[in-house]
Amino acid sequence: MTAIAFIGLGNMGGPMAANLIKAGHQVRVFDLSTEAINELVEQGATSSASAAECASGADIVISMLPAGKHVELCYLSEQGMIHTMKPGTLVIDSSTIDKATAVKVATALKEKGIDFVDAPVSGGVAGAAAGTLSFMVGGSDNEFNRAQPVLEAMGKNIFHAGGHGAGQVAKVCNNMLLSILMAGTAEALQLGINNDLDPKVLSEIMLKSSGRNWTLELYNPCPGVMESVPAANDYQGGFMVDLMAKDLGLAMDCAVQSQSTTPMGALSRNLFSLHANQGNGTLDFSSIFKMYEKEDK
Ligand code: NAD
Repeated sequence: MTAIAFIGLGNMGGPMAANLIKAGHQVRVFDLSTEAINELVEQGATSSASAAECASGADIVISMLPAGKHVELCYLSEQGMIHTMKPGTLVIDSSTIDKATAVKVATALKEKGIDFVDAPVSGGVAGAAAGTLSFMVGGSDNEFNRAQPVLEAMGKNIFHAGGHGAGQVAKVCNNMLLSILMAGTAEALQLGINNDLDPKVLSEIMLKSSGRNWTLELYNPCPGVMESVPAANDYQGGFMVDLMAKDLGLAMDCAVQSQSTTPMGALSRNLFSLHANQGNGTLDFSSIFKMYEKEDK
């Protein structure tokens, strides 16, 4: 049985920690929210008073926090876990953050003899609950091999993307492409609707033609075309516009640092930021479909 410390028990971290308990691990938890801690304690976890206390003596520390500043604070600040973790501990940070912070934390921990992988996920809240997440892992071969068995308790597809930070780069590349596919699919469907096509028929045609993509297959943004997708439920649930806008900001940082040309990504970042700023931040990202709607409809 491995002693695991889990920090950050939100929409994703809560169910991920629950799956580790189900897999038989001894799980200690910490979050700023007492309610979130209590929910996990009810499922068999042990509570801690701080992140540093939680990480003390653990074999593996996993974090699932909102952004880079939270990760840096939890690990490297004066009260950070770096001061209480023992040498030989393995850290798995599954938060979606910037590559620079992932590399900074990895480097600082290495000096203390602590292994680190960045391991952001794809699959959303449903995937976290079902234990079917995809993990994109950045770290050495040895670090990846250490992380793989514990990640398998929370996910189905575990990819080794490269060295430290590579997991974060893979994640933002994927989400940038996803946002472009979603915005493009919404645009094509609205063009058809504005020219008197039935969106169900148009969706079927494009699914069997060269415009086929993941959003048409599983996540159609037009209400009434598919059941059990956020578009069928007023864009509630799913993957929030705010989170997509955050990930697109990370993709643009990555593009600037590497002097990459990303015109579609930049446009997509602007579209999703505008959509968020117009009061849609908490809706599912497929709600970008509404942005293309003609007012006289
Ligand atoms: P969330 O806001 O629901 O949860 C974050 C948790 O971290 C909260 O419970 C918060 O209290 C806790 N926290 C913040 N600062 C803390 C600190 N200093 N110490 C301890 N706990 C702290 O977010 P989420 O949806 O679970 O997302 C977590 C990460 O996963 C983000 O980076 C997000 O981009 C990424 N992600 C989310 C989804 C999704 O569908 N929600 C999908 C893939 C990736």
